[in-house]
Amino acid sequence: MEIKDMILVYLETVDGQIVKVSLEALNAAKKLAAQTSKAVAAVLVGDAGAAASAGSYGADAVLTVAAEDHQAESYAAILAELYTRYNASCLVLGSTRDGKELAARVSAKAGVGCVTDAMDLTAEGGWVRSIYGGSLQETVSLEGRGVVTVRSGTFGKPEETPGRTAPVTAVDVETGALRAVIKETVKELAESVNLEDAEVIVAGGRGMGSAENFKLVHELAELLGGVVGASRPAIEDGWVPRNHQVGQSGKIVAPKLYIACGISGAMQHVSGMTGSGYIVAINKDEDAPIFDVADVGIVGNVNDVLPLMIEEIKARKA
Ligand SMILES: Cc1cc2nc3c(=O)[nH]c(=O)nc-3n(C[C@H](O)[C@H](O)[C@H](O)COP(=O)(O)OP(=O)(O)OC[C@H]3O[C@@H](n4cnc5c(N)ncnc54)[C@H](O)[C@@H]3O)c2cc1C
Repeated sequence: MEIKDMILVYLETVDGQIVKVSLEALNAAKKLAAQTSKAVAAVLVGDAGAAASAGSYGADAVLTVAAEDHQAESYAAILAELYTRYNASCLVLGSTRDGKELAARVSAKAGVGCVTDAMDLTAEGGWVRSIYGGSLQETVSLEGRGVVTVRSGTFGKPEETPGRTAPVTAVDVETGALRAVIKETVKELAESVNLEDAEVIVAGGRGMGSAENFKLVHELAELLGGVVGASRPAIEDGWVPRNHQVGQSGKIVAPKLYIACGISGAMQHVSGMTGSGYIVAINKDEDAPIFDVADVGIVGNVNDVLPLMIEEIKARKA
């Protein structure tokens, strides 16, 4: 299949599985493809294990590239080379930390525009994104070419069609000499948190009061099969590692259920979690702004409410 002029979508994988926000990026690419009568080629770098599922989720072609060094410099060199080699009109990525770094590097290398955190694509081909911590929206036109990252929870996952396949082509890309070489990677246990793909997030804020009380957040998250999120003060106070932060300078999340415990609802936090399906907020201040975005609000002390919730859920499970 002729790859030239296609829309490229970079699929990030964890343990051989495509991450949810990359599937959303594939959906966004398909939406753009429908508007521009182009086809979509999925790109897998380093780990080609998900090549078959890329086809079943709707990619028209799959490019796999071997890479030893998992680092932004080499991955960006590979993606920029593919972008230029195949004269791609657009490269779409998920808005993960890696995705945003790659997008910036590729757009600079390829000399094209970049839109991060796109939430929608207008009928005229403009990418909609929120600015100023979510208080305004803007529509950006890339005028035919560019790099886009897609915000989690906005484009939805494409339908999977079991048995649908796309031709897979292994391509070689020379990255040239890298300025940074990774000598050793140490994987912390805390790194394995995957807030972007979580269906349930229980998040704690300054209102939890202490690291000891924060254990209630962990307990409820575990009971619900979810993961722990946090506001910035909870991280700054050292109650939970930084990679749990939700918000403007943390992760953008879109779980089915988000439980905010002792979080005031500052714009910088809320802009990272309003894509959640159902929001429950617990706060002792009935005027806390978090209640404006909550589906259910509980006015009360987290140290009273959380043990009751935990007890009730345990009783129901039993
Ligand atoms: C550039 C920039 C980027 C930022 N990025 C982020 C970000 O990514 N994520 C983020 O979270 N913040 C971010 N912030 C910080 C943000 O502005 C807020 O300061 C922060 O979100 C507030 O966290 P909080 O709600 O936990 O704390 P607070 O605002 O102090 O709120 C604590 C809440 O807990 C309630 N409470 C207290 N005790 C109890 C109790 N016992 N039971 C029940 N409720 C109780 C209080 O009523 C209050 O509403 C950023 C700020 C800036 C300037």
